[in-house]
Amino acid sequence: TNTELELVNVTASWDEGIGELFEKIKQENKADDPPNGDTGLFFTNLYVTPVLKNIGLYLEKGKMLAVAGSTGSGKSSLLMMILGELVPSEGKIRHSGRISFSPQTSWIMPGTIRDNILFGLAYDEYRYTSVIRACQLEEDLALLPEKDKAPLKEGGVTLSGGQRARIGLARAVYKDADLYLLDSPFTHLDIVTEKEIFERCLCKLMSSKTRVVVTSKLDHLKRADKVLLLHNGMCYFYGSFSDLQAQRPDFSSLLLGLEAYDNINAERRTSILTETLRRVSVDE
Ligand code: ADP
Repeated sequence: TNTELELVNVTASWDEGIGELFEKIKQENKADDPPNGDTGLFFTNLYVTPVLKNIGLYLEKGKMLAVAGSTGSGKSSLLMMILGELVPSEGKIRHSGRISFSPQTSWIMPGTIRDNILFGLAYDEYRYTSVIRACQLEEDLALLPEKDKAPLKEGGVTLSGGQRARIGLARAVYKDADLYLLDSPFTHLDIVTEKEIFERCLCKLMSSKTRVVVTSKLDHLKRADKVLLLHNGMCYFYGSFSDLQAQRPDFSSLLLGLEAYDNINAERRTSILTETLRRVSVDE
């Protein structure tokens, strides 16, 4: 089969463990016939709130899936589920091979910039240089007297948000894997750098790789092979960008009508996307 990643009607909750515990307490309270009936209701509500509801998708080898959605809609949780950190309570998830994951905020370990990109892997000059260029780190390194041998402190306090994001991305891309999960790699980047990195790294350097990328930019959604739009843990849309307009006309006309949308930073785009999804899901 040519499918690299498949999710079939997957539902998952972060608070399931806690929920089960509270459920037990509730049962015990019931047995004791507590005077306060509200407690049970509260615990029940906590128990039944899944973070992802009935999500289905498949991604073929070498294709790109763009995941977008409102704040707290479950985008990061979806990646954690593919990683195996969040176990589905219903449905099936299938993938094989090695995963490379870039979290929204990458951990910087004490060591040089190069150490932080290699992250324990062997240095391969060609591979390393291609990754540095594609992640727009060449100029940053050229400005440092020690270049990529510049030491970093744990937590990366000496780095700008954008530099840290690009080092995190470079680390994930340097690793050879079958499936790449990139959580909001463009946060803290200006729109010019974002555009360059999308073209050079995600589209060119990674062209043969299977990629799941959390991004809110319409241009990225257009260029991706598949788009998943999440709202409140549910799939608002899944398909190709060209199907979006036909299937979600209200949403499309609102968002496509915003000329400046793609030209503002990633943080503000997410706010607008959240607002738009709230509006259309109230109307529907
Ligand atoms: P998004 O990435 O779309 O903003 P998230 O997946 O981060 O959404 O969050 C969805 C919900 O899951 C939120 O209510 C959040 O508090 C919860 N959540 C996210 N990550 C964890 C975690 N590691 N443990 C427990 N709850 C989490």
